[in-house]
Amino acid sequence: MLPVVRIKHLKSLMPAAATLVSCLLTLLALAWVASLQSALALRPAALQPGTGLAASVYPQFKSNVGTIHWLKEQMPLKVYISHGLTLDSVMDPALGAPIANIDNLPAWPKLVAALIERPEKWKTLTQAGGFLPGHYQAAKEGVLAWKIFEPEGLIKYELTEDPEEADIYVFFTHHFVTKLGMALFANDIRGYTSKTNFSYAAIMRGAKANFQPVVCVLRTTDNQGQPMPLGKMKAAAMHEFGHALGIEGHSTNNGDLMSIYYGRGVISPNDADTLRYLYHLTPDLIP
Ligand SMILES: [Zn+2]
Repeated sequence: MLPVVRIKHLKSLMPAAATLVSCLLTLLALAWVASLQSALALRPAALQPGTGLAASVYPQFKSNVGTIHWLKEQMPLKVYISHGLTLDSVMDPALGAPIANIDNLPAWPKLVAALIERPEKWKTLTQAGGFLPGHYQAAKEGVLAWKIFEPEGLIKYELTEDPEEADIYVFFTHHFVTKLGMALFANDIRGYTSKTNFSYAAIMRGAKANFQPVVCVLRTTDNQGQPMPLGKMKAAAMHEFGHALGIEGHSTNNGDLMSIYYGRGVISPNDADTLRYLYHLTPDLIP
């Protein structure tokens, strides 16, 4: 059965499909000219060898299966940041480990979709160990940081307190575990994001997609077992939301938010140019 929230989304998307392509192409052409102009004004001719991309755009934004981003028709995206809820109590009986383990990332969206459909199950979710009220605020600030791109018309999203209507979910965990239930205490990975993607071309041809929620999970403790400092939590949320928006890989420039080192905990000029570039492309896939 299709999750209710996704059906709603599909309905809003499908009637527009026929007219969408030409509008989108026009918009893309206009946006492309505008972006080229601003890119040229800012950074004259520096291209990365072999990529054809401006030096500020890191090519790792693209997944190995192509470019991924949301469509205007899906916006405003609704983002549900839980007040500390964890998915860890939902166990895989065969593994004896949480379903939301890091070896099982593709299963996370389906798990959340199933929980939304069953309020009695949703009510059993508990708060992650180590969660502090300040963590919610920090995660919220991190997620909202990408709103600086709204005036440019690239993205549009809002927070919701109603989990039934969300497109993107933020949960928490004390620490991540593997499928063997092994705890990853010592590493500095503060979050993971999982999304299911659908062929843009197929959807434009009228194919039905069983849209799934995008799921981010943030860690409440650091690699010393101490409460995650609020600045690090904010950076982690900002970074994971960058993945939720479609930046798939990691910049190799350590100063960028979307590097594995979280940069300076802010959206860098490279991160900004990369998101702009991504949203001016026709996607291969949509979340
Ligand atoms: Zn990442």
